[in-house]
Amino acid sequence: MTTTETTPGPTAGRADAAIDIQDLHKYFGSNEVLKGIDFHVDRGQVVCVIGPSGSGKSTLLRCVNLLETPTDGRIFVEGVEVTDPDVDIDKVRSRIGMVFQQFNLFPHMTVLKNLTVAQQKVRKRPAAEAVEVARRNLEKVGLSDKENAYPAHLSGGQQQRAAIARALSMDPELMLFDEPTSALDPELVGDVLAVMKDLANEGMTMMVVTHEMGFAREVGDKLVFMDGGVVVEEGVPSEVLANPQHERTQAFLSKVL
Ligand code: ADP
Ligand code: MG
Repeated sequence: MTTTETTPGPTAGRADAAIDIQDLHKYFGSNEVLKGIDFHVDRGQVVCVIGPSGSGKSTLLRCVNLLETPTDGRIFVEGVEVTDPDVDIDKVRSRIGMVFQQFNLFPHMTVLKNLTVAQQKVRKRPAAEAVEVARRNLEKVGLSDKENAYPAHLSGGQQQRAAIARALSMDPELMLFDEPTSALDPELVGDVLAVMKDLANEGMTMMVVTHEMGFAREVGDKLVFMDGGVVVEEGVPSEVLANPQHERTQAFLSKVL
């Protein structure tokens, strides 16, 4: 790994940050949905993002891996400015794993094929090596016996764990999760959260949009509350949850806790 000397200050990424977001604005047409977001995620940290529907959580996450183009502001991932107009978008995305609410597995491919196809195409791994990596990650998420199954034959929880294993097979430097358990039947949520907790314990940097306050409290290093396109409050999860400082945070938590 190489390190780059950067001058500290508002125009540079924090040297120690995995993700550094500076005054991020995003418009859809004339609708400003992110109104100056600032925060950072240190290496190995788990940052949970909560907030009402429509507050801009998904847009924020999608800006980090350039699924949405930020209108203004800067984002650094591992010290590289992804908002630099000359950045290689494919290279940025290949370093960031993303898991969505809807599992987004390829329906016409087996689980194993879902995990190997991008490794071969994007990572240029030989087939045998891609299979080896895939099997290692399927074992990690408890799906070794499902490698030949098609997504439609898996439960939602199994599909989501397969989607996590697929993302991990690309050796991401960090993982983004957008409400990964919101589409699951309640009895399937725990298995997915357990996989995410293992990942956190291994030191993976994670940004997690979630309504699972138990997970945020137990696994999160930082909790960020968003409303109306701004960060209203952030802090240690147990403190924010027990003693929210802002009225808007209090109102939101009183509905979800
Ligand atoms: P959250 O994930 O917190 O529910 P979103 O980031 O999905 O919020 O949405 C924030 C706002 O941006 C909403 O008002 C939504 O309608 C709007 N929005 C999101 N994506 C688009 C898009 N592709 N085009 C236009 N408006 C969008
Ligand atoms: Mg969302």
